[in-house]
Parts: sequence; C-alpha cells; structure tokens
Amino acid sequence: MKKGKLIVFSAPSGSGKTTLVNALLQKNLPLSFSISATSRKPRAGEVDGKDYYFLGSEDFKNKIDREEFVEFEEVYADKYYGTLKSEIERNWEAGKHVIFDIDVMGGLNIKSQYPQETLALFIQPPNKAVLEERLRSRGTESEAEIQERVAKAEKELNAAPKFDSIVINDDLDLAIKEVCEKAEHFLKS
Ligand code: 5GP
Repeated sequence: MKKGKLIVFSAPSGSGKTTLVNALLQKNLPLSFSISATSRKPRAGEVDGKDYYFLGSEDFKNKIDREEFVEFEEVYADKYYGTLKSEIERNWEAGKHVIFDIDVMGGLNIKSQYPQETLALFIQPPNKAVLEERLRSRGTESEAEIQERVAKAEKELNAAPKFDSIVINDDLDLAIKEVCEKAEHFLKS
C-alpha cells in the first residue's frame, strides 16, 4: 500500500479544533479528513459517512472484535469513537494525506503507531473558563455532558507536552495561520 502522511489534531472538547481542521481543509493541499466511527447518536445536521460513520453499539463492538480499528476509545460513558484502518488506507490509496480530529488518547495512539508519518498537534484553549463558555454557547450538550467534558479536559491538558507541537487557540486567525504553516512545512519535509 502507498503510504502518505498523517496530521492529527487533538484537544479537549471545546478548544475549537474542528474550526482549525476545517480551515486547513480549505487550503489547496492534498489532504483528506479521516471520518471516524462512533456509537453516539448523530446531532442535528450531522450526516452519516460525512461527519462520522454512525454505528450502533453492537456493530461498533463487532468491528473491535474483528480488529478493524487502528485506535478506538470509550471517549464518554458508553460512547465509543474510533479510526477504522480502512479509512487511512482509502485516503492513502487516493494519494491523500490524512487529517484527524480525535481525542487526546486517540491522537497519541496514532502517533505511536505511525511515528514517522505523523505530525501530532495539540490545540489548547486559552483557559478553562473559555473552554466551558465555548461548550455552553455551542448548545449541543446537556449541563451534565458539559461537566463530563470539562472534567475530561482537565486530564487531557496534562498530556499536551507529549505532542509534537502545541497551538494555543486564543486568537482564531493567528491559530489558523499557525496550524496551516506547521502542516505545510510538515508535508514538504
Ligand atoms: P463529539 O461527540 O463532540 O463529535 O466528539 C467527542 C470527542 O471524540 C472529540 O474530542 C473528538 O475529537 C473525539 N473523537 C472523534 N473521533 C474520534 C476517533 O476516531 N478516535 C478517538 N479516540 N476520538 C475521537
């Protein structure tokens, strides 16, 4: 199989990493988004096969048993997320490098399996209050879910030094510029 490169964006939920990933995808680079599989329900507007492969819990567990994942996590209680091996292969075969929007453990997992091919970026919110505010203004999670995500974020922030690079997402335009420069430099190297 042809091998391309992998660019991982990991961050606590609410750090704005999806916005940065989308900005990088707008650039005219041979990059393709890795569509993760998840057992959580789609949110309004999310499309199966575009935002995620939405699988039932049973289906997700069968794929774990058949070792179809490069990495997977029970990111929140009873909500599984994972990267299918077929997703990386599909993109590499198409001559694309792959970009990931995945949680911190998942990002480090990809890096450890593909150390030479991976640029792992940690997107850091300026502080905890901003993170909580961003989660609230998104309006997609219940208060209990927001608290679950904030608690997880505190642990994830400790993993930042294990990444290749940390980008602080305070000023969005600056953060976009920084990730695009880092990605372009990595793809040329
Ligand atoms: P959300 O439910 O907000 O779409 O995603 C919740 C968390 O799961 C986010 O931090 C997201 O990056 C992470 N996530 C999405 N896809 C994957 C994946 O394939 N593997 C892992 N480990 N985490 C993922």
